[in-house]
Amino acid sequence: MSYPEVDIKYRQIFNHLPGRYLILNPDLTIVAASDSYLSATLTKRSEIINKYIFDIFPDNPAVPEARATEKLNESLSQVLRTGKTHIMDIQHYDIPKRTSECTEFETRYWCPSNIPVLDNTGDVEYIIHSVEDITEEVLSRQEIVRKNDHIMVISRKQTETSEALGTIDKRLRLITDIIPAMVSYVDNEHRYRFVNEAYVKNFHTSRKEIVGKKVEDFLAPYLSKDISKNIEAVLQGKVQSFEIKIQPKKDVQQHLEVIYLPDINDQGEIMGFVSMIMDVTDKVKYYDELTKLAEEKERLILQKDEFIEMASHELKTPLTTIKAYIELMLLDIEDLDHTTLRNYLGKANSYINQLHRLITGLFDVSTTNTGRLPYNFSYFNLKEVLEICSNNARNISKKHQIECHYNMKGKMYGDKERLEQVLDSLLNNAVKYSPDNNDILLKAEKENDEVLITVKDKGIGIPGEELDNIFKRFSRAHALSYHNSGLGLGLYLSREIVERHRGKIWAESEIGKGSTFYVKLPSKPVIR
Ligand code: ADP
Repeated sequence: MSYPEVDIKYRQIFNHLPGRYLILNPDLTIVAASDSYLSATLTKRSEIINKYIFDIFPDNPAVPEARATEKLNESLSQVLRTGKTHIMDIQHYDIPKRTSECTEFETRYWCPSNIPVLDNTGDVEYIIHSVEDITEEVLSRQEIVRKNDHIMVISRKQTETSEALGTIDKRLRLITDIIPAMVSYVDNEHRYRFVNEAYVKNFHTSRKEIVGKKVEDFLAPYLSKDISKNIEAVLQGKVQSFEIKIQPKKDVQQHLEVIYLPDINDQGEIMGFVSMIMDVTDKVKYYDELTKLAEEKERLILQKDEFIEMASHELKTPLTTIKAYIELMLLDIEDLDHTTLRNYLGKANSYINQLHRLITGLFDVSTTNTGRLPYNFSYFNLKEVLEICSNNARNISKKHQIECHYNMKGKMYGDKERLEQVLDSLLNNAVKYSPDNNDILLKAEKENDEVLITVKDKGIGIPGEELDNIFKRFSRAHALSYHNSGLGLGLYLSREIVERHRGKIWAESEIGKGSTFYVKLPSKPVIR
């Protein structure tokens, strides 16, 4: 038997073993290495045999944390110490490429185990260092882990994003809930998907009652106009802006300004629309009032102009007549007899009275406006007042028949002169506005603690729509040309005086048939 042959055979067999083996001496010099070990570690047998293992396989300075040589050293020491096999954990040990002077490393992962070969006395004679190259598995696992990590990162980011979106959603909802406008989102099937707090409150309902419903169906009971055209238009991508009136609950009318904005996605499809509604009821009311005020101002300016025109005419007419009579008298003063003189002076005096009345009326109106119209309340005999006033009327027109009826006993309480002023005005008008019928009735009757005074004529009458207006300042129901005399102050002042007595004044009339004026007054003092 030739041992060397057998020896060579064993070595060849060892070299060709599929596993990756290294045989070490107890001093950790390399005795043998299988071919597969050499190719796995990118080494050549001649370069490593008899070399100290850690000289051949140094650490990769780029990954000091792997501590590969340190751990292998520990394991080998343990095997030498204990004489027992030690299976190491997976090791990250990068092998030098040995291509140039500046050594590069190739990433490798190993599953090493160190198996002692004991001699007859039980001492460690050799250590078989067996390694399994699991680089591919580890790298692919790492890839999986990395992908997993990546997926985790993405999903964490998604979570964060959706949380952030949730927060944004919440914030948006909060904002839309805070703003006073009614905000809603309606999908392209006309169904509410979102309504804010203001929307819900305005219709006195809950979100549940609105969301999911069709806009037209929900709004139908409240709307006065059809908005389906606006909905169709916004769902064709056209911004809509319009006004509507709604009645969200009984006795409440709202004026709303509506804006519909289409929601168009990246593909250009219309997904729905956002509706913004502003309650402009107060604004509209304010503008309505402003318009009314402007109209009123305009009316007052016109009235003022008419009044100035009328007042100058009213004051000029008696003044011209007075002037004419005085000039007549001056012209012929020596030749005028007593009767003519008395006649001229009488005429002049009645025009002076007319002027006096006009000027007093104007003065009274201005003092009434400042609340300073003087009153002098006392007990007086109404009968006397009725007689004075009917006589005054008779003096104004000789042709009119003034009938005076009263069933009054005792005294009544009030300002005698002011009430005289009222009755003078009413009788004066009765005469003035009855050019063709001469019958005038003045009547007073007592009803419990009240007195009802009636002044009735059969004159031209007052149009129904003017019956309330005639008591307003400067108001005249007939065209200026009809009867020129008058400033539209008599009835205004009469109402002021009657109301100051806690009484009421009103009129009934029929065009062409005549008018009746009523004055109702308390006969006793009224506690204010
Ligand atoms: P005026 O000085 O113009 O008569 P009033 O205040 O006394 O002013 O009356 C207001 C308006 O009411 C009058 O211009 C007239 O158009 C109408 N009016 C008042 N009394 C009568 C009446 N008895 N018959 C018809 N119209 C009347």
